[in-house]
Amino acid sequence: MNKKELARFKKLIQAERERVLERLGVIGEEITDRTSGQSSGSQGYSNHMADIGSDAMGQEQAFMHASQGNEYLRRLDDALIRVEKGTYGVCEDCTNKIPVKRLQAYLAARLCVTCKSKRERLQRS
Ligand SMILES: [Zn+2]
Repeated sequence: MNKKELARFKKLIQAERERVLERLGVIGEEITDRTSGQSSGSQGYSNHMADIGSDAMGQEQAFMHASQGNEYLRRLDDALIRVEKGTYGVCEDCTNKIPVKRLQAYLAARLCVTCKSKRERLQRS
């Protein structure tokens, strides 16, 4: 992947990361910290928190969502590190390039489709 592509994915991952954070309701220090000074006229957070803490969602379910979100966040962070290293978009198992289309569909992808399905089969057995 060339530098231009890496830069493009870096932006996509960062945007996705912030979206997840917002969803998780941790619009705390981190985001304000990172975006302060460069947040000119963003959409704002008019409807944030609207769906958090609703009675419809039980505690346990909310927790499930949160932990899944955290796991996803961790993967996105990981992807960012790989962007920095220049190894983003390279399959960890076979070192083939992961198709850009797949990366766009799942930014945190670390394996090509073949290796991913191989691993899933192994995990299930
Ligand atoms: Zn592979």
